[in-house]
Amino acid sequence: MKTVLRYLQEVALAFRSLWSGLRLTLYFFTHPRKEIITEQYPENRTTSINIPERFAGEVVLTHDENNEHKCTACTLCEMACPNGTIKIISAQVETEDGKKKKVLDKWVYNLGMCTFCAQCIDACPQNAITMKNSFELSVYNRSDLIKTLNKPGSKLKEKS
Ligand code: SF4
Ligand code: SF4
Repeated sequence: MKTVLRYLQEVALAFRSLWSGLRLTLYFFTHPRKEIITEQYPENRTTSINIPERFAGEVVLTHDENNEHKCTACTLCEMACPNGTIKIISAQVETEDGKKKKVLDKWVYNLGMCTFCAQCIDACPQNAITMKNSFELSVYNRSDLIKTLNKPGSKLKEKS
């Protein structure tokens, strides 16, 4: 009797598991239209497209409204990057009191090599860089994937 009961239990379990799989397969028929969560892409790219905030599209150097960034050209992000995606090019400038100071010249980012691991962002002591949820970043020319992230004329934000 015990064996028969166990057998019946197993049959019931099998049907339950079959049904949970079928529920997903039959999603289109079992859910009303308002619950359909797929995007009508690319038709909705300028209207209702929903790119999650946490989507890792590309690394960006943050600039404020005065075109100032927080990068001190310390190169910690470059060292943290596992595949050489970042090149920090610095320059020496003379301050008002005659001292030499290292400043950022070019923050070079190769989007074509980036694996979006965010190790550079974690390594930055200034919170100068972040991951942006950009999409549709493909280009025809591979060299266009190499970008200078500091904007023309930008400078280091003075500490207040
Ligand atoms: S996200 Fe990762 S791969 Fe991309 S630049 Fe940063 S450390 Fe390098
Ligand atoms: S982005 Fe951050 S870690 Fe990279 S060089 Fe600038 S200050 Fe240093």
